[in-house]
Amino acid sequence: MQKRILAYGRLSEAQLAQLDRDFEVQTFPGLESADDPAFLAALPKAHGLVGSGLPITLELLDSAPNLEAIATISVGYDGMPVDELTRRGILLCNTPDVLTETTADTGFALILAASRRVVELADFVRRGDWQASIGEAQFGSDVHGKTLGMIGFGRIGAAVARRGALGFGMRVLYSNASPKPALEQELGAERRTHDSLLAEADIICVTVPLTAETEHLIGAHEFGLMKPSAIFVNIARGRVVREADLIAALEKGQVRAAGLDVFEQEPLSPESPLPHMPSVVALPHAGSATYETRDAMAQRAVDNISRALQGQRPISLVNEAAWRP
Ligand code: NAP
Repeated sequence: MQKRILAYGRLSEAQLAQLDRDFEVQTFPGLESADDPAFLAALPKAHGLVGSGLPITLELLDSAPNLEAIATISVGYDGMPVDELTRRGILLCNTPDVLTETTADTGFALILAASRRVVELADFVRRGDWQASIGEAQFGSDVHGKTLGMIGFGRIGAAVARRGALGFGMRVLYSNASPKPALEQELGAERRTHDSLLAEADIICVTVPLTAETEHLIGAHEFGLMKPSAIFVNIARGRVVREADLIAALEKGQVRAAGLDVFEQEPLSPESPLPHMPSVVALPHAGSATYETRDAMAQRAVDNISRALQGQRPISLVNEAAWRP
């Protein structure tokens, strides 16, 4: 009997064909909640799930007693009950590496856009307000040669810092759980405590994962430490930042501008003041959203689930403790 996979992420025809060769595959394109009756009916016989955005609840796991593996099409796995999956012997696989450079590109796009007021000035031209040479009221701040403070210095953090150090002649500071001597060597990066980084950096970019420790890591106290000229960029997860405190800091001029790809609530509520603030560049969680990278992420997830259900170690396994070779 072939094992069954429920696919609710965006997979190409070739990727579905790859799964079809070895498994029975049922697709649920665009599924965001497990309430879908067809999905609920399919869960009891499912061995694998592949997709993103679906909350994996204990109820869902209870309805899927045959589940062996979940392949999320994302590197972040906040919201996944990792300990519970491990307890049940269910492998959790993610998609690191293949999205690192694209997400770093997005981070740098936000750094440049927020510093140089790209969106605000483009809107100014679009509205027909460009009637004379622009003056100080439209000036931005430099990126090259500034001090970049990375909060989180893993794969994506290092890739953003590499762009800054090598492309823009920036000095790099970082605060991270562990020291990164190889990156210090490569980029001349200097480790700082969280608070001294916030006080010293001109541009602050957040790339830590969302965990119990990092939830609301940046709030009023932290914004208070930043320079009034600071540019703040978040490409990690919205809940790493207390959004109300960020709004207050921008309103008070405690920081100059923000580039945000992620928000506490997604999609962002139309009531949120953030996208209406001229000093904010807001993106719809588009960090990895290119044709090439989303395809590579889906391929990684397909390879992960295939290997997991065939008894081979998945390429990217989150919960090593659940792996029984
Ligand atoms: P990663 O390689 O695991 O890097 C995360 C870094 O954060 C690691 O260096 C880790 O330290 C550090 N860290 C973890 N907890 C910390 C804490 N409490 N205090 C200080 N540092 C801490 O992950 P990645 O691939 O760079 O991805 C990072 C995050 O970016 C993902 O988890 C995801 O949430 C987010 N992301 C967003 C998008 C988007 O579309 N905007 C796309 C991709 C990823 P150690 O090295 O010491 O473990």
